[in-house]
Amino acid sequence: MANERTLSIIKPDAVAKNVIGEIESRFEKAGLKIVAAKMLQLSQAQAEGFYAEHKERSFFGDLVGFMTSGPVIVQVLEGDNAIAANRDLMGATNPKEAEAGTIRADFAQSIDANAVHGSDSPESAEREIAYFFGSEEICAR
Ligand code: GDP
Ligand code: MG
Repeated sequence: MANERTLSIIKPDAVAKNVIGEIESRFEKAGLKIVAAKMLQLSQAQAEGFYAEHKERSFFGDLVGFMTSGPVIVQVLEGDNAIAANRDLMGATNPKEAEAGTIRADFAQSIDANAVHGSDSPESAEREIAYFFGSEEICAR
């Protein structure tokens, strides 16, 4: 299995609900290690740049508004097949469609406020990790 890194965000709704620890616990129990982490209040420009791939979508304004509505945790998870493993733990984008036991099924309330972000490919993981972290901020462990 490939050892990978992926960019994870605990979104403002989950930070506000005070379930940071419960979400981190899902990652740890699945064998993913947190190798970098910080809490940030995203600026509008930071959120727009992060989600640039969605800028033509009708929901872009709502997405940026939501992601800047309160602090987030941005972090790098590392482990076997970390990109797909994190997406499996997260569940479907729309929590109404997310499988029971996934983070979004258990903690998200809507397609906007859906608790977590996870990179969807090796290319996006590389871009997204570099968007928030310098190589010196990522720890070997
Ligand atoms: P993800 O990779 O599962 O997070 O989903 P996408 O990359 O497709 O979309 C990014 C984020 O935009 C999602 O996590 C949602 O918060 C939001 N989003 C996606 N589709 C919709 C939609 O149809 N309506 C709204 N309001 N937000 C959406
Ligand atoms: Mg996505």
